[in-house]
Order: sequence, then C-alpha cells, then structure tokens
Amino acid sequence: MLGTGSAFPTHSYNACFAIRTPGLLWLTDGGGGNGIFRTLEQAGIMPTEIHHVFVTHSHTDHIFGVVWLMRKIVHLRMQGLYEGSLYIYANQETSHALTEICRLTFLESYFNVLQEIMVLRPADTGSHYQIGDAEVSFFDVGSENVSQAGMKMRLDDGKTIVALGDEALTRLNMHEAKGADVLICGAFCRYADRKIYKPYEKHHWTVRDVAEIAEGINVGNLVLVHSEDRTPDKPDAYRAEAKEFFSGKITVPVDGERLQL
Ligand SMILES: [Zn+2]
Repeated sequence: MLGTGSAFPTHSYNACFAIRTPGLLWLTDGGGGNGIFRTLEQAGIMPTEIHHVFVTHSHTDHIFGVVWLMRKIVHLRMQGLYEGSLYIYANQETSHALTEICRLTFLESYFNVLQEIMVLRPADTGSHYQIGDAEVSFFDVGSENVSQAGMKMRLDDGKTIVALGDEALTRLNMHEAKGADVLICGAFCRYADRKIYKPYEKHHWTVRDVAEIAEGINVGNLVLVHSEDRTPDKPDAYRAEAKEFFSGKITVPVDGERLQL
C-alpha cells in the first residue's frame, strides 16, 4: 500500500498501491504528486520496472502522481534506461485527462517520447486482459462523483483481488466484488465520526457502510483505504467499527504496509 489517505491527508500519501506477483508488477493510481517517488523507493520498486499502470479516475489525488511517473519514465527512456512500453489502463475520460495534462505540462520533446512509449488500453466495462500471470478485467464502479473504473485481478492460483478506486463497496458494485479474496475499497471515515468528516456530502461512505455490505458477499480480506488520517490509532479504531458488522478479515493499512496475498 503506497498511500492510504484521501485527498487532503497530511500524515499519509493519497491512496495508491502496487501488486507484485511472480510475473507482473502492477500499479494502481499514483496519488497526487511526486510523493509517488518516495513511496515507490520505500517499497523497493524502481520506475524502470513499471510497465502497467491502472488509473481509476481523473481526480487530482489519483492522476497527478501518474503524470510525475510518466515524466520520470520519459526521462529514463531518453537516457536509454527504460525499455519497452508503458501500458496505461484507464477509461476514456481518464485517458483523455492524462494525455492532455502531459501535453500541456511536458516539454514537447518529452511529450513526443511519451507518445512513443505509452500504450493506452481501455479500462471500460468488459475490457479484459491477460498480463503476465494475471487476468485483469475492468468495470464501472458506479461512482456518483466521476466516471470511475474498478478492476478484478485473478492470479494464477485462482485468488482474486478486487479494487474499487476511491469508491466504497456499494449496492452498485457489490456484484463485482462478490467472493473476492481481497477487496480494496474506500472508507472515508468511521460512521461514528460522520458529523466531523461529512463523508456523505462528498459522495463517500463510512467503515460501517462498507462492512455491512461486505458481510453479505463473502469477502476474504476487506482492505479499507482512501480515508481521513486524523483519527488516533486509526487502524484499531476502524477495525473495531468494521468488526461489529463484518466477520471476515479486516485490514486498515498504513502507508508502506505490505500485505501478503
Ligand atoms: Zn480520491
């Protein structure tokens, strides 16, 4: 888990994560800035080994870290240090935003190199790819905020990881998450703290909301991210609330935490 925070965290980086399997390194989102470099370094991931990046949606706290990463990769390519293509998985809206931000903010020579190495792959509902030893499919998470993609990754051993970007597990996407061994989704704050953090105004949901739905769909490990970061002992506090409604495993990671699948 490279970052676990929502949009304005001061004690954590914005929510983003990497998955490493024997045959694939997969990045989901980049957070909102060049803090992505520090989190990657701490996780032991080198930009030269990043070739598959899934960008869930076009909001600042998810997309700008990817822009920084692209800039770095272009730089590495110009020095002869980055080989192969950079595959970006995103829906139409997000692909467009990403391309235009790069066009407007990169040196022309950088943008030209980016166009040579970047391969945009649709992450719309029904898009489906075999990548390394993983099978990945995409779907719309039904966000009220923005057009946003979720993914389901099936590994060689049959285990599945479902990720919903910064969207919570809701009635609109629960069928996609059904039976997931690992479900990574947004939980903005505890239900108990809803008056402080006002999740519903932002179309976000609470730990309790997510836990209640997860209980009915046989999730193995419920991983809650994209939350506020001011609650003292947040992992324990969130787990305690989730446990009242969900009987499976609950993980409330902090930045840099490594989960074994
Ligand atoms: Zn977000």
